[in-house]
Amino acid sequence: MIVVMASRNEEDIQRVVKKIEHYGYRAHLIRGSDKTVVAAVGDERGKARLQVLEALPGVESVLPILKPFKLAGREVHPDKTVVRVGDVEIGATEVVVLAGPCSVESREQLMDIAKHVSAAGARILRGGAFKPRTSPYSFQGLAEEGLKLLAEARDETGLLIVTEVLSEQDVPLVARYADILQVGARNMQNYALLKSLGQLRKPVFLKRGMMATVQEFLMSAEYLLANGNEDVILCERGIRTFETETRSTLDLNAVPVIRSLSHLPVVVDPSHGTGRWDLVIPMSKAAIAAGADGVMVEVHCKPAEAFSDGYQSLTCENFAKLMSELGRVAQAVGRSL
Ligand code: PEP
Ligand code: MN
Repeated sequence: MIVVMASRNEEDIQRVVKKIEHYGYRAHLIRGSDKTVVAAVGDERGKARLQVLEALPGVESVLPILKPFKLAGREVHPDKTVVRVGDVEIGATEVVVLAGPCSVESREQLMDIAKHVSAAGARILRGGAFKPRTSPYSFQGLAEEGLKLLAEARDETGLLIVTEVLSEQDVPLVARYADILQVGARNMQNYALLKSLGQLRKPVFLKRGMMATVQEFLMSAEYLLANGNEDVILCERGIRTFETETRSTLDLNAVPVIRSLSHLPVVVDPSHGTGRWDLVIPMSKAAIAAGADGVMVEVHCKPAEAFSDGYQSLTCENFAKLMSELGRVAQAVGRSL
């Protein structure tokens, strides 16, 4: 249920909050540009009794939220969310580029890439220290050593850090180093991990599962929001289809679809979405043209020597080319880079 306030009076609003809590629900306050609404979050059963709140002073109406994703949806939160991390805003006018290697491999590899992507205009450095690999015999990541190298690269370049957390038990460790915690496609429906990240006061970069519908994707975001974390960034990274020319089919439909259903920022990952470095520049442009708030791309100064995903990584030179071409697309759709 959402309680739409006619009044901006703080006493009226707090009275509604108290009443919602009295009935055993969590009150989630959203102060929009137009109106203030209070959402009652919790067990669906018995919510009808909240209708009586209509009698309280300052209340305009009490309405059911029709979509299954209550807090991630536009019904409760019509204004777009801007996630602020350091001096970077994701979801505002500026398009944000997150770039870096698939895996953190060594100090030399990471520093070299970090300096190049920073000089070309990336704002956030990506790099996996915990890698979800199909084979248990493939490189699994440098773990804490990799996190330390990411922190060093941040100190050196001023870039913010996004890195994947694979399991619930690693959340405190990864949160000590990362500015943004990434949930990978394979973990999108790991609800124990999502609940734990919901309690964290750091932004979460949630990737769409390769077999997940947009609805399921938004329900996973709902887990983070319902557990108290409002700083959620969604990432479309391609889905599995019958097509074999590309590693995944980058679902750019999802960008405007999510935009219409949700207030959360959307980033596109054309590296995993295509699996081919030569498609990364055109699909990055397409993503921004479709309304994405940013792109995440894999970059390696020596892709042929990469421990993982070298074939889909841009060289440092090609990354600079991407950045020089993306600005014009951003401008054409009313954004900046
Ligand atoms: C990644 O970004 O490092 C990654 C493993 O991507 P995904 O979870 O989308 O496969
Ligand atoms: Mn990768």
